Formats: sequence, C-alpha cells, structure tokens
Amino acid sequence: MEITQKAPAKINLSLDALYRHGDGEHEWRMVMTSVDLADYVSIRPSARKISVRTDSGFVPEDARNLAFQAARILRQEAGINAGASIYIEKHIPVAAGLGGGSADAAAVLRGLNELWGLNYSRERLAAIGLRVDSDVPYCVYSQTALVTGRGERVQPLGTLPNFWVVLVKPAISVTTARILSMVDYQDTLPRPDTNRVLSGIEQCNFDLMISGMGNALEAVTAARFPVIEELQQRLIKYGASVAQMSGTGPTVFGLCPTRSRAERVYNSMRGFCKEVYLVRPLNMG
Ligand code: ATP
Repeated sequence: MEITQKAPAKINLSLDALYRHGDGEHEWRMVMTSVDLADYVSIRPSARKISVRTDSGFVPEDARNLAFQAARILRQEAGINAGASIYIEKHIPVAAGLGGGSADAAAVLRGLNELWGLNYSRERLAAIGLRVDSDVPYCVYSQTALVTGRGERVQPLGTLPNFWVVLVKPAISVTTARILSMVDYQDTLPRPDTNRVLSGIEQCNFDLMISGMGNALEAVTAARFPVIEELQQRLIKYGASVAQMSGTGPTVFGLCPTRSRAERVYNSMRGFCKEVYLVRPLNMG
C-alpha cells in the first residue's frame, strides 16, 4: 500500500509579528492561503525504519528533513514501532518563504495517520506538527486560515475572491532563523491591516482584501536584499494589483484579479527572473 499526499506551497496574504515570547519565539497574526504549486509526498510502510528520499539536491535526507522529523514525532506520540519509507517529489522552491518543508511535514502527518490507522483529528495532527515548525499546523489544513499564537491556532476562513498569483523567486537564499533573529520590536514595523484582509475575504471583495495586505518582516529581509523591492516594483509596473513578500522571503508575489492580467505580469517577470510561477489559490469562490 502506498499513499500519496499533495503538499501545497503557502503564501502569507498578511503577516504580522506582534512580540517575542520569553523563549525567543514570535507571536503571529497572519492570513495564509495555499496555492496550486505542490510537492508530492509518497509513503510506503516499512519494517521499523523511517527513511526519506527526495528528487532534489537541495534538501537533506536525514533527521534535518522536516518530513522525517514529523514521522518520528508521530511515531513516538502513537507509541508504535512501525517504520515508513517516504519519497518527496519537490516542486516548491527550497528556502523560499513558501513553506515547502512544513508542507511536506504536514503531508507526512496526514499520510501516516491513514497508513498507521491512527484516526487522529486534524487538531491533534496540527498540535503534533507544531513541534516540527510553526507553519506545520497551518499546512495540516492547507486551506485559507487566520493563524495566530506561535502558529498553533488555525481558524479556517471562507472562500477567497477570485484572483491569480504570480510567484517570483529570486536566486538568493534567505535563512528564516536569521531573519527572525533580526526582528527588532523597538522599530516600527510596517504592519498589515489583517482585519481588513479578513473583511475582504468575508465579503469576497478583492479590492478590500488587498487594501489590508502587508508583511511585517518585509523590511527586515528587503534591507539586506534590495532585489525584493525591485521585484515588487516590477510586479506593480507590469500590472499586479499588489506585490508582497511571502514569509521571510525571498519569494515575492503579485496578485491580479484577471487571468489575462496575470499572464501579462508572468510573461514580463520571466524576463528578469528564472523562477516565476503563475498559480491560483486552492480554495476560491
Ligand atoms: P518557511 O517559510 O516555513 O520558513 P521556507 O519555504 O523558507 O520555509 P523550506 O523550503 O521549508 O523553507 O526550507 C528551509 C530549510 O529547511 C532548507 O534549508 C532545507 O534544507 C530544510 N528542509 C528540511 N526539510 C525540508 C523539506 N522537506 N523540504 C524543503 N526543505 C527542507
């Protein structure tokens, strides 16, 4: 028996960092959604060993792999001896701010839940996922949600207004931990208006939704990598209604209300960047 789970990339429509907890972790308030750019995670039962292989040269295949960590923690939680052989077909750019590793970890939790017949609820899988990474609880659901706390509170939202997404991943590598360590709460962070984003989604109103968008970490990454701002300006120039960094970057995305506009933006951006994707959110009206 083999189970294949889709592990979609996420983008942050809003990302607000509120404060740092005593243990160094951040308090988040963000609206996340998943797009149709996904890894495929196949899982087969195996005697007692957990193993991970991927078709990517950029992803570790040992205990550093988030999918491996998820399998190990779930096995421990379930108190069983089973093993699993995990294969990840990578399509999501690595270390891009698109949550690829977290998506794979969540896919492993969903897949093993089925394969090992655990019947754990999504809530329980999400709580286990939090031990791997703060984005894993969201990825267990992989549907538009308001995410708060350290990432553990995931409130699914309604369907999104209609739009297309142009993802642009510059050829630089950004370490999430590094950017997070540089966040200074004494500085005035450019805050999104998350409540407006929520109202926009509730009313299925694209213009209202984008008027509240923002990423409080954008300035931190952009100060070190000017290409972020340059790509945002280009996205707007070519017709995107809004352009923003995802997660801690470096991927920047533009939203367009029509396919023709998105295609124009996509084609223009391909002249400047090798890695450009035209995608749609997974749950739209
Ligand atoms: P986030 O936005 O959640 O911080 P990201 O999209 O910036 O994540 P990932 O693609 O998850 O970044 O990769 C971050 C690091 O995690 C990489 O350096 C990579 O070596 C490591 N990693 C561990 N497991 C995986 C995995 N299954 N897929 C991709 N990267 C992984």
